[in-house]
Amino acid sequence: MQLVFASANKHKIEEIRSILPDPISLLSLTDIGINNEIPETRKTIRDNSYLKANFVSAFLKEKGLNYPVFADDSGLEVEALNKAPGVYSARYAGVPKNDLANNKKLLHELHLVTKRQARFVTIITLILNNGTHYFEGEVKGTIAYETKGTTGFGYDPLFIPQGYRSTFAELGNDVKNKISHRAGAVNALLVFLNTKTDP
Ligand code: IMP
Repeated sequence: MQLVFASANKHKIEEIRSILPDPISLLSLTDIGINNEIPETRKTIRDNSYLKANFVSAFLKEKGLNYPVFADDSGLEVEALNKAPGVYSARYAGVPKNDLANNKKLLHELHLVTKRQARFVTIITLILNNGTHYFEGEVKGTIAYETKGTTGFGYDPLFIPQGYRSTFAELGNDVKNKISHRAGAVNALLVFLNTKTDP
């Protein structure tokens, strides 16, 4: 089965490829000829997820192609910051988006805060045969006092998942891809696709 993933984010593509089983092959935005990022103009993670999937689905339909398309929109919600940066996670420290600056800003916002609970959330939108389906994943954790580790992207050097003492960036992709928000949403998507293709 071929699925189009409405993203140009190399890290997300790599993570999702390693979670999906072999019979599913993933086409990214560049594979289908879209070379620009799709602007995320909506005010919720769910709406931005739909926006990206719908944009790509319409693009393919115009070309007479009817691949299933899915998009992932994700964000970090920090309890002490009333769920910020949330839908604005990518551009928390301004435009253009910059992971280092975002992490620095988050540490600054939390410098007097000891209750550092947070969660990552992913909402996947799948558009399949004109039907729209949503799948959600989350991982709870805390925000570290300094960045640690070198793998992953975004806020991974600051996010310590519940039950661990190291950040996602220290734990590495194998651990992250078993317990992450993205893994949760992708696994829910897989359960759905399996039930759709069962005899
Ligand atoms: P997007 O809008 O789904 O591309 O993600 C928004 C932002 O959330 C990204 O630019 C990252 O800063 C952050 N983010 C999303 N997923 C992850 C993750 O798995 N680890 C770390 N940061 C993430």
